[in-house]
Amino acid sequence: MEYKTQILDGKAYDVVVCGGGPAGCAAALSAARQGLRILLIESMGQLGGMAVTALVSQWLGGRTQEGEWVVGGIFKELSEEATEKGFALLPTLQEGQDYQPFGFYNWFIHGVPLDPYMIDTFLEEKMDEADVDVLYHTNFVDTIVKDDKIDQVIVYNRSGLQAIPTNAVIDATGNADVAFKSGCETIKGRREDGKMTPASLIFHVYNVDQDAFMAYIEKTRDPKLRDIIDQLKQTGEWDFPYDIFVASQLLKKDEFFVNTTRLTGVDGTNGASITEGLKRGRKEVKKLMEIFKKHVPGFENAKIKAVAPQLGIRETRRIVGDFMLTTDDLANDIQFEDNVGFSMYGWDLPDPEKPSIQPFADDSKAGYKYKMKKGLSTPLPYRIMVPKPIKNLINPGRAVSVEGQVLGPVRVMAPCMAMGEAAGIASEEVVKAGIGYNDVNIVRLRDKLRTAGALVDKAALPPIHPRIDQV
Ligand SMILES: Cc1cc2nc3c(=O)[nH]c(=O)nc-3n(C[C@H](O)[C@H](O)[C@H](O)COP(=O)(O)OP(=O)(O)OC[C@H]3O[C@@H](n4cnc5c(N)ncnc54)[C@H](O)[C@@H]3O)c2cc1C
Repeated sequence: MEYKTQILDGKAYDVVVCGGGPAGCAAALSAARQGLRILLIESMGQLGGMAVTALVSQWLGGRTQEGEWVVGGIFKELSEEATEKGFALLPTLQEGQDYQPFGFYNWFIHGVPLDPYMIDTFLEEKMDEADVDVLYHTNFVDTIVKDDKIDQVIVYNRSGLQAIPTNAVIDATGNADVAFKSGCETIKGRREDGKMTPASLIFHVYNVDQDAFMAYIEKTRDPKLRDIIDQLKQTGEWDFPYDIFVASQLLKKDEFFVNTTRLTGVDGTNGASITEGLKRGRKEVKKLMEIFKKHVPGFENAKIKAVAPQLGIRETRRIVGDFMLTTDDLANDIQFEDNVGFSMYGWDLPDPEKPSIQPFADDSKAGYKYKMKKGLSTPLPYRIMVPKPIKNLINPGRAVSVEGQVLGPVRVMAPCMAMGEAAGIASEEVVKAGIGYNDVNIVRLRDKLRTAGALVDKAALPPIHPRIDQV
């Protein structure tokens, strides 16, 4: 098939970034700051990825439980600037308090809650400042590959199908779409049976009586509302396959994002399955809200502010690189010479069939508690982003080369930004020297990351204190 070659406004691009989520935005910004000409294509009409279009309005994994930075660089810059502008919050630890609304357990203050309706504009301004060209409602469709390099990226938008010539491609689609279409090795879901962790349809609520709700939690010490749900299961009112309530305060008091639905059996790479998941999710949101209003103290007058227009997909394809980060690597606290960042997050990957169970987090011998006891952080070796055999392609974000359960800590948004930033900086050498991402000079890359404020050395991390009591 012949495609019209598109060079927007007569420009040629050094790098096409596919996907404007946390990984893609950080990659586009850092690559542009290296002086490269960048085109960022995004299938939705907003930047921010899951945080914005799936209403997952909290950047996790970038701070300790005391609120100190574990991911620096672009993540810290965006978090601090967005907070200054009133689009984000940096919660602090409240001594002498057991529960707080940003994740309920007092140690869960490490996230950065966001206003999804302003973060998109904020990110757009950052792209303008860095001279990144953005094309919305533009889908990556395919690539034209020559000699193990992507020569052109095929996209589709209202102007039709177009081919964009480029020197390098950053695949930040979250699904390894570019790698898959270019013939790279990928894996989908669990190695044994391909099953994927459940999807969720997130919704935001307002008009909650937060004081009443918090008083109930302080009294029952049951932030996941297990007691209420157990009773409702007995009466048959609760017939969902999950049995925990998950929610977190947004920027304003009395407003929460609710992350309770767990939609099993959804394949985020299959159009019909996504549609079925969305429809099922909307029905469950409606039913959950009726239950909350009737049975959850403080929710009597709560109202839905927004239901995410896009399904929250936690897991689909990942690349299989020459190197794969394993659970053993994490349990043994292995440090890597090509480390480009860290995640400060646990083994959070719900079981595909038992969605309220975290196979590793709930097994103290295998996972989270063991790891947290030792105060460990999750390293992000550069090689997990490098697919094979395509040389001028890199995959920061959710679709990296990791063993299934390792996805838990690496998939959250702060580490995705850390990876994106590293991929953007690495692109300079790839474009200017005409080499593959697998040949990038790691010492130089890590130096440049340090200069940009990124945290790439374990010695530079703040102390990470174990909080094993409330997993
Ligand atoms: C329900 C749920 C709750 C979560 N909770 C949290 C949380 O509280 N905090 C946290 O930090 N993380 C959370 N996560 C994880 C986190 O949101 C994702 O893992 C993270 O957003 C991945 O970042 P990414 O940049 O790799 O991909 P994404 O955020 O998915 O961004 C990918 C972008 O690429 C675009 N795109 C995809 N395909 C194409 C294509 N073919 N062409 C063009 N554009 C394309 C998408 O529209 C999207 O904007 C949650 C995830 C889910 C699903």
